[in-house]
Amino acid sequence: MLTAITGINWGDEGKGRMVDLLSREYDIIVRYQGGNNAGHTVVNERGKFILNLLPSGILRDGTVNVMGNGMVIDIEHLIGEMGRLTEKGITITPENLKISDRATICMPYNKLLDILEEERLADKKFGSTRRGIAPVYSDKYMKKSFRMSDLFEDEDVLREKMHDIVEWKNLLVEKGYGHEPVSADEMLSWLHTYGDPLKKFVCDTTEYLTEAHENGKKILFEAQLGALRDIDFGIYPYTSSSSNIAGFAPVGAGVPGIKLDNVIGIMKAYSSCVGEGPFTCELFGEEGDKLREAGGEYGAATGRPRRVGGFDVPASRYGVRIQGADTLALTKLDVLSVYEQIPVCVKYLVNGQETESFPSGEKLKRAQPVYTYVPGWHTDISGCRSFEELPKEAQDYILYIEKAVGCKIQYVSVGPERDQYFEMK
Ligand code: GDP
Repeated sequence: MLTAITGINWGDEGKGRMVDLLSREYDIIVRYQGGNNAGHTVVNERGKFILNLLPSGILRDGTVNVMGNGMVIDIEHLIGEMGRLTEKGITITPENLKISDRATICMPYNKLLDILEEERLADKKFGSTRRGIAPVYSDKYMKKSFRMSDLFEDEDVLREKMHDIVEWKNLLVEKGYGHEPVSADEMLSWLHTYGDPLKKFVCDTTEYLTEAHENGKKILFEAQLGALRDIDFGIYPYTSSSSNIAGFAPVGAGVPGIKLDNVIGIMKAYSSCVGEGPFTCELFGEEGDKLREAGGEYGAATGRPRRVGGFDVPASRYGVRIQGADTLALTKLDVLSVYEQIPVCVKYLVNGQETESFPSGEKLKRAQPVYTYVPGWHTDISGCRSFEELPKEAQDYILYIEKAVGCKIQYVSVGPERDQYFEMK
């Protein structure tokens, strides 16, 4: 059984929590793209955990976690993240964590260049998380990056490679941005400090996953960020720098020849978006503040307040299609209890014309939302554990959304705790 769990919207849909919930049925959880530019929040009986790099299955005993070749890994951040989990009693060993020898290492100079560029752009900035993700993916495609396998390289060879790459980097750091140059020796020692303790986790994850699949293991592919942040299909250039769609999961995980059996899309009952870029359904003023507060919409990785909006039909339907979702998990339905009338963005107005499609480029920038209001339930639903227990208005909302996006809703989440959800019949 090969399942991908992916976000339908702009990210922060509650994927971490759904993976935590569904992972009990799977033997292996794989992260296949991105780096520590996003945060999954998982609340379970052991506490509240923020995961930036580690797959969510790390919180569950007996689950093997794989960090795939499609990832970019800031090894210093990873060591810190592992330390914070270990302090809370989570055991991490080469048995339950495997890092691809082909995964790319996100270097301190990648982070530095991310910061220098955002500062140069000033008020034209993209809203990067400043964690070096775009620069490190650029290096990957320039074929001038370090991979986990480099940690096993002879010292002389590694030093020479470091000097060559740092020389090239300094053309930009020093001569371009006028910043003090990066030191190759410091970079080399950084690589050893944070890389050497990780060596025991590094292996050929393609071989591992291929064998596991042949032996009938159940594998779950976990995306970070939603469809609308995909480098090709998202709101470019306000996207992440990697492919996060389900179609890419086998590639980024390291088993490009396999076919997924199932794609579960995680879709939020309303909208939120971190950082810059077109966000047509955005709600402002009191209507937005109310939703932001109720939903606790502040970035897990950065603490930044998120922009919020009503459920966005054109964007979500597009997300469902791009992901090829078989079924959906609707999250944070409980948050909408704040409204007596629930705002829903049903269409966009582009150049004076109404459209139900999700535009790209300049058209998207110009799009205006067409809002409608549907009856709210205005009561606490966080204790409901079946569709039948929900107030009629909440039932109608689920059925309305299901129809609007054209995909079956399988799970409904009504709170952050592990048991605060139900499955639709
Ligand atoms: P992810 O990156 O997609 O995993 O999403 P985040 O972790 O950034 O955001 C999800 C947040 O919403 C976390 O704080 C979760 O604990 C919380 N959450 C998830 N599902 C629900 C839900 O159904 N209701 C409420 N109230 N909170 C939820």
